[in-house]
Amino acid sequence: MREIRPVPSPAHADCPRCARTVPVDRPWRGWVVVRGLWAFAVLVMMATAPAIAADALFLTPLAILLLGAGGFIIDRSREPARCRRCRYPLERRSETRRAPAR
Ligand SMILES: [Zn+2]
Repeated sequence: MREIRPVPSPAHADCPRCARTVPVDRPWRGWVVVRGLWAFAVLVMMATAPAIAADALFLTPLAILLLGAGGFIIDRSREPARCRRCRYPLERRSETRRAPAR
């Protein structure tokens, strides 16, 4: 059984790769809020699709840019906390929503 050592602060965690308590590099949690805003904007775009399709000069490229930004925003919002020394992911945020491995 693995020994559980006391962690000095929430800014530190045990890194299995470094085998010691290390400072944690946490990503900005505002990306989760940005992801929610992006999803809301996509819903508004779906409701106003006829108006967006009618304006091919401004609204349609803007809608394409907004949809394309979704991958970046979702990727940033699922970024786990990492070890500051070796970049090892210390929490498995991105794997909690996936199907279990067989
Ligand atoms: Zn490490």
